[in-house]
Amino acid sequence: MRHNGRQPIKASAIPPHLLDLSAARPMLACPACGRWAHLVRGMIPAHRSATGATFVNGKAARCPLSGQRVLIDVRPLDWAAALRQAGRDAALRRSARVTPKGVPPLATPVHRIAAAR
Ligand SMILES: [Zn+2]
Repeated sequence: MRHNGRQPIKASAIPPHLLDLSAARPMLACPACGRWAHLVRGMIPAHRSATGATFVNGKAARCPLSGQRVLIDVRPLDWAAALRQAGRDAALRRSARVTPKGVPPLATPVHRIAAAR
């Protein structure tokens, strides 16, 4: 398979949770479609995009980042440290605090309004 002719993507520019350098073969989520794939000869292998794909002859079109070269410029230890730090940051996030408000008074039922007349 030949590369797609685009400039290589640096692994340091990819968020650590979309990259996996823990195994012998690096793996990453395709930046275009999110599909996970092992790098083959430093490239994202040809794949069809399941999401957001344009269909050609009833089949999903090939993802535009098929054959994208990826330059692994991060050491696995640095990547693991960045991943742990990202996990800690995510664990510290809180959802927006909801301020309870008083229950609004109930409106007088229509049949009581009609009976008062
Ligand atoms: Zn893709």
